[in-house]
Amino acid sequence: MSLQELTEAMAELNQPKFRAKQIFSWLHKFCAVSFDEMTNISKDLREKLDDNFVIFTAAIEKKLISEYDNTQKYLFSLHDGECVESVLMKYKYGYTLCVSTQVGCRMGCKFCASTLEGVVRSLEPSEILSQIYAAQRDNSIKISHTVLMGMGEPLDNYDNVMKFLKLITSEEGQNMSMRHISLSTCGIVPKIYDLMNEELQLTLSVSLHAPNDEIRNTMMPVNKKWNVETLLEACRRYTDKTHRRISFEYAMVDSVNDSDECARELAERLRGILCHINLIPVNEVKETGCKKSSQNRIERFSSILEKKGYTVTVRRKLGSDINASCGQLRRSSGRTEKEKAVN
Ligand code: SAH
Repeated sequence: MSLQELTEAMAELNQPKFRAKQIFSWLHKFCAVSFDEMTNISKDLREKLDDNFVIFTAAIEKKLISEYDNTQKYLFSLHDGECVESVLMKYKYGYTLCVSTQVGCRMGCKFCASTLEGVVRSLEPSEILSQIYAAQRDNSIKISHTVLMGMGEPLDNYDNVMKFLKLITSEEGQNMSMRHISLSTCGIVPKIYDLMNEELQLTLSVSLHAPNDEIRNTMMPVNKKWNVETLLEACRRYTDKTHRRISFEYAMVDSVNDSDECARELAERLRGILCHINLIPVNEVKETGCKKSSQNRIERFSSILEKKGYTVTVRRKLGSDINASCGQLRRSSGRTEKEKAVN
């Protein structure tokens, strides 16, 4: 609930306006998981709240900690037994949580583990928030940055993701800076225009992964609906309007999209778009058969783009020993449908 919705709900319980603010701050600033924790609220009212409302929390189903870099991967279970993944990473500037926006994904990208079993459902705003709150509580830390790059396609769950963004940035709650949030999309073009019109200060990441339709069609089914030209036109308009730099994600797959020719074509097509290019050695997922490009190939690809004037980074690999990439933990958790039903 937004503060406004909570205020209306409290009015129905004949409670004063400040009560909504108190509860909101318990929920969103202190990440309370039960009404019992709300000690500045009378016991009577706490009981009434308990009878009328539910605080949705994410329970830690499994947690893996990387031996190399302390990256932590969580498998959280939700109220209906479905599971989602989040990854906690520590950087010089603070903690970042990579959150999921859906259980599974229906976008069908060939290299991605999240989409292998399709989408089960979209997450509620509270379920996206609760991943952050649970990771904070578990480590007694404050998470300063969030990337919507876990399971799911954020723009396929647009309204809930917008509400999540409002809540996580709200002053009475976590007050996370919108500039510390990245939203990644595989390229749902009409929603990119909707997002453009919200004029948010977040960073838009676009999973491009190929310079032309011929290659992108083989990697990402979404390209058959909105092709590279349509997508890049939306990106150009987005940066023109918001003046925010787009980050293009490019997963490097051996012999698929990593030739010199691809780099040159990419440089050509991105001309005039305010952007940054992030090269990712593809994480090899057994079922996808994708092999990652060699280090030499990635460096060469990167240098061609740099010579053409682009800023390029090669994503540092964190948590590779704990299956930290998209959808891998949920698939390896080995929980059967029956077990899920029991839990
Ligand atoms: N659905 C959104 C966000 C989730 S995926 C999107 O497509 O952008 C986050 C990023 O991880 C995307 O860039 C996605 O293409 C990339 N990704 C997925 N599987 C990967 C893999 N096996 N190796 C490298 N990157 C991968």
